[in-house]
Amino acid sequence: MANDSPITPDIAAAYCLCKRKAFLLLRGEECEASHQYVLLMEAQAAASLKTFIDSSERAGLSIQHCNGAEPTGKADVLAQVSLRADDLHATADAMVSLEKPVGKGQPTYEPHLAIGSHSIAKADKIRLAFLGHVLGIGHRRRSHTGVIINAAGDAQRIKLAKLVAYLGPVIDTLKGWKAAPATAPPPILLNDHCPICPFKKKCLEQAEKDDSLTLLDRMTPKVMRKYHKKGIFTITQLSYLFKPRRQRKKRKDRPAGFNLELQALALRTGKIYLHQ
Ligand code: SF4
Repeated sequence: MANDSPITPDIAAAYCLCKRKAFLLLRGEECEASHQYVLLMEAQAAASLKTFIDSSERAGLSIQHCNGAEPTGKADVLAQVSLRADDLHATADAMVSLEKPVGKGQPTYEPHLAIGSHSIAKADKIRLAFLGHVLGIGHRRRSHTGVIINAAGDAQRIKLAKLVAYLGPVIDTLKGWKAAPATAPPPILLNDHCPICPFKKKCLEQAEKDDSLTLLDRMTPKVMRKYHKKGIFTITQLSYLFKPRRQRKKRKDRPAGFNLELQALALRTGKIYLHQ
């Protein structure tokens, strides 16, 4: 049976951080409570949105608070607007009416996204592009740009064309997963995002159970693929590949490089090895 859950900006942004996270979110897997850092970012994003709305009001713009409903009026600024197009659902923090409409027809709105950090990450741009995409296809109010408001209240205008082009195949993959929920989740590839991911505990437990190579420090997806091609899937298997080699005279002054096979051997035997 197909999955009914909507595709949201958070799922599309998760896809660019970790495909497995996007898959688990889409499937509605039970997850841990949000990490403190994520809660802090959300609180700061809410504060910067409020500052933006207040300053727009002071500047004499008309504001309509939609509170998660679809846009109805024609105010200059629509806050917390729900946007829908088929199975794509999003809530725009704010949409600001463009002075010059793009092309003919009704005035269009520029999506605004408030974030809790000072710097803009790729995932933030993807979330903004998602809003622009849904606005374009679901509400026929395509905007070529969007705005990200950071924790300091600074607004940065972002061109959406390239981001929306990147988003297209991502949405197609997510729709494919929705249509075939029995698909196996993407493999676990532990990464920098894991410490604040709500699936951290599950992934770590599964990786330990599988004795997965991803548990090794400095293991990358590319190197993992290389070992998989050789039929090496576990840390135990990898540990048997380590062979101490004599260094050539010429290379003796060079420091020894990091060795994944030695790391695997140390884990299997529980010993400390001095490489040089
Ligand atoms: S814990 Fe890491 S590997 Fe697992 S879903 Fe989250 S980001 Fe992906």
